[in-house]
Amino acid sequence: MDHFEIKHGVLHAEDVPLPAIAEAVGTPVYVYARATLTRHARVFREALGGLPRFHIAFSVKSNPNLAVLSVLKREGYGVDVTSEGELLRALAAGIAGDDLVFSGVGKTTRELGLALDAGLGQFNLESEEEGIELAQIAAARGRRAVCALRVNPDVDAGTHAKISTGKAENKFGVAYDRAAAIYARLAALDGLEMRGLAVHIGSQITSLEPSRAAFVKMGALMRTLRGAGFPVTHMDLGGGLGVPYRLGEVLPGPAEYGAMVAEVTRDWDATILFEPGRVITGNAGVLLTRVVRVKPGVTAPFVVVDAAMNDLIRPAMYGAWHDFAAVRPDGRRMTANIVGPVCETGDTFAMGRDIDAVQAGDLAVFRTAGAYGATMASTYNSRALVPEVMVDGDRWAVVAERIDPATILAAERVPDWLA
Ligand SMILES: *Cc1c(COP(=O)(O)O)cnc(C)c1O
Repeated sequence: MDHFEIKHGVLHAEDVPLPAIAEAVGTPVYVYARATLTRHARVFREALGGLPRFHIAFSVKSNPNLAVLSVLKREGYGVDVTSEGELLRALAAGIAGDDLVFSGVGKTTRELGLALDAGLGQFNLESEEEGIELAQIAAARGRRAVCALRVNPDVDAGTHAKISTGKAENKFGVAYDRAAAIYARLAALDGLEMRGLAVHIGSQITSLEPSRAAFVKMGALMRTLRGAGFPVTHMDLGGGLGVPYRLGEVLPGPAEYGAMVAEVTRDWDATILFEPGRVITGNAGVLLTRVVRVKPGVTAPFVVVDAAMNDLIRPAMYGAWHDFAAVRPDGRRMTANIVGPVCETGDTFAMGRDIDAVQAGDLAVFRTAGAYGATMASTYNSRALVPEVMVDGDRWAVVAERIDPATILAAERVPDWLA
């Protein structure tokens, strides 16, 4: 559920009419509803009520905006970061080092050191090589890095290939069959405190079965390690729970997920970590756009909007669906192709879609754009970097300014030898 609803014929974010934001900030612009973020954070936490000990680390990469992180920090969430930049954001949002998890296959020497110095709560090691390097960096500082070993369970999450991360051929984690031996070798290093295992099989997972299968395998590995004398106290089950992108789509939600986890982990006696991203932020945001013009097409008219693939790349990159809705719907419908202005055919949001009738100048939104939206934006075609707004009741604020082409150009140089 979200807080983007029609009131008095106009689409609102909570109590703010979207045209007010478009007037003041211009379009395209992402609009987040704080009430939805808060609600999702609470629903997800409540769904885990059956677990004795757990910790939630929001996946920053799904929406790294500082205001979003601030909302989730107030809800008691920690965060999962994947880069120096995300670590910087988490610290800027005031999230304590202890509440931070660091994931990613390519953590650099510099990033490992910075994270150690920030007092990072848990490194999710993705290879033996990374563990050996981190041990050296920590030992040189007279420290021990708290770690979990990310394991690749060889389970197909049944999602888009580009966001599937738990199959044997994927780059993530260590091979399941080799995990116990690698864990033992890493646990013997002075600079590391190995405390558990981590798994994350993919994103936008729409069935509970793949996750269940992965967690069952992780439980077996945990028992093997404990049997060998390693006190495995923490189990990180990652994120990945999918969200409905289409009106009326019904997927397993946090409650079903929480019940499944409680059942699988019943006798684990471990602190369970979660790294939800999309399920918290996805439906908490829309991309507000204006129709530039409508032009005839062979099969259907083209609705050309001022948002493009550089602002929201999911349709171009994953063939993803985002519901499209007029801000002032009048009840009429049309079948159209929705495209952006970028000079690529890939800059297409929908083909032959039944939508609210719109014409040049009208405002509209792409729904469920709060996750993997602004964070994946670029300046392709020398377009501005899209701004972000957060609404809270009847107030709202720009939480990321539009970075215009002139500012981007100012960072470029022509060398003397070309002048
Ligand atoms: C991306 C990612 C997540 C979050 O995935 P969602 O599908 O947004 O919940 C969690 N953990 C890791 C390691 C990730 O890479």
